[in-house]
Amino acid sequence: MHEFACEEIFPGCPDHLRGATVDQLVDVVERHARQVHHLLYLTPEMVAQVRSQVWTLWPPRTAAV
Ligand SMILES: [Zn+2]
Repeated sequence: MHEFACEEIFPGCPDHLRGATVDQLVDVVERHARQVHHLLYLTPEMVAQVRSQVWTLWPPRTAAV
């Protein structure tokens, strides 16, 4: 399970998003950005930021992504 704090790309947003895999989480973040932040799509920079700021909840993270 992976979690991402939306405030990393949208400062002030209290939402935390979760996905079973990082790829799934990116999809969830993109959908959230579209619905809540009225963004058509994530920029490559945002996707890179999501991937670098993901928290791995389980299994516990043992190495940098
Ligand atoms: Zn948000």
